[in-house]
Amino acid sequence: SILLGAKQFVNYLRETLEKYNLKDSVDVLETGSMGVYTQGVVMAVFPDDVYYSVRSVADVEKIVSEHLLKGRPVLSLEIPRERLKLVVEREKVTEEVRIVLRNIGMIDPRSIDQYIARDGYFALHKALFEMKPEQVIETIKESGLRGRGGAGFPTGLKWQFTAKAQADQKYVVCNADEGEPGTFKDRLIMEGDPHSVIEAMIICGYAVGATKGYIYIRGEYYGSVENIQKAIKDAYEYGFLGENILGSGFSFDLTVRLGAGAYVCGEETALLESIEGKSGRPRLKPPYPPTNGLFGKPTVINNVETFANVPQIILNGANWFKQFGTQGSPGTKVFSLVGNVVRRGIVEVPMGVTVRELIYKFGGGLVGGKQLYMVQTGGTAGTFIGVDKLDVPLHYESFRDHGVSIGSGVILAMDEDVCPVDVALNTMEFFEHESCGKCTPCREGTRLAVEILRRMSKGQGKREDLDTLKQIAITTQEASLCGLGQSINVPLLSILDNFREDFLAHIGTTA
Ligand code: SF4
Repeated sequence: SILLGAKQFVNYLRETLEKYNLKDSVDVLETGSMGVYTQGVVMAVFPDDVYYSVRSVADVEKIVSEHLLKGRPVLSLEIPRERLKLVVEREKVTEEVRIVLRNIGMIDPRSIDQYIARDGYFALHKALFEMKPEQVIETIKESGLRGRGGAGFPTGLKWQFTAKAQADQKYVVCNADEGEPGTFKDRLIMEGDPHSVIEAMIICGYAVGATKGYIYIRGEYYGSVENIQKAIKDAYEYGFLGENILGSGFSFDLTVRLGAGAYVCGEETALLESIEGKSGRPRLKPPYPPTNGLFGKPTVINNVETFANVPQIILNGANWFKQFGTQGSPGTKVFSLVGNVVRRGIVEVPMGVTVRELIYKFGGGLVGGKQLYMVQTGGTAGTFIGVDKLDVPLHYESFRDHGVSIGSGVILAMDEDVCPVDVALNTMEFFEHESCGKCTPCREGTRLAVEILRRMSKGQGKREDLDTLKQIAITTQEASLCGLGQSINVPLLSILDNFREDFLAHIGTTA
């Protein structure tokens, strides 16, 4: 939205309101991005409930001089109702449920008062004054919430491990190092509703007995850093952070740490190393962070989206949460729709949604009415699937049962013009670049895979190359130290298996 001119437009809006003497009668509220990037900058006029697509300062002028001054909506700029499915009608579309994104686009993320006005910090109050720490953990366990960063580990269980560990100091860490290409949901949450993450971390600290927390944010996420820092400052001022929170006797401090752009720092132990001031290289596991984490102390690490679910679960209860999603994967998932879809953006839907629904119903189909050819689900370390798997329901068991991963929630749609060999090359170049080099299979395997795929993409591949690529995938998965190397087999094997004909065509042979 900022790249599309949001900052410039809001400044111009304020100037124009002054020019037309409307400054005192119209409030300007800046929200986080609504996550709909194909509509330009979205500007809404309340209480009229009219949504505009703004692409220039002239549009801003027109909205002020016509709508705000004369009360005549500017029809030419209005966003058609069907395009708003991802924006205002989100709550009316039965298949969409906003838990994590409930405040996005609805409040000024820099205003703690507006967060409180929408039940913000009520869950913290309830946890501190109406629940014992073990009851908080039981509620999270009972809700079935699983880690939204990709691995899907049960959140309550993770908290319980840390709660049971004996130590003089424990930590809560939020993994906000969102580096998966195509994923931008955590950024949207931090920019649009930073207090929800902070509130959840304090609740987690209370539940597990931790008094210190860190939010490790990807360094390029300037907007997230700014909004989270402002939110932390306000939370201290209001007594939600610091000594003796709300008079409960519980204390919790929160600090922001910035990543420096390494994808591997999204791996939890590399992230911990980075917070400790060391080079961001993964640790050997076990021991695991719940017992031996930050500075060797018991540590809960959860992703932004996972934390953002917590206040709503505490407020509404585990059964309320379990009504959404599937039995094994309750709740919702925030998906990033990218690639050749008409409406690229963010959508939150109950677990169990199919890829077809995401692309055609929420994404509006493919640009130019082209045919869908390939989809990558779950991020760069996710699966490549063909159109035969569009109706697989997405949840944490869909990879085991159908070979379709949910991962970090990216749905990358590619049309008939895409070349699977080039896509595989692009993916492996990414892994080669991001491999930290600590272990040989990952460092050398990715380099070799890139070399082969480059040859293949130029039409110089050999049939044996396919077997070598498979061997690389399997070896890297079995012999690598961390999740980065261990997951390379997922994209590589799935693209080789599901698009074998394309690879054979590239090397001038058939099955
Ligand atoms: Fe580094 Fe790759 Fe080994 Fe992970 S698997 S430790 S990223 S070399």
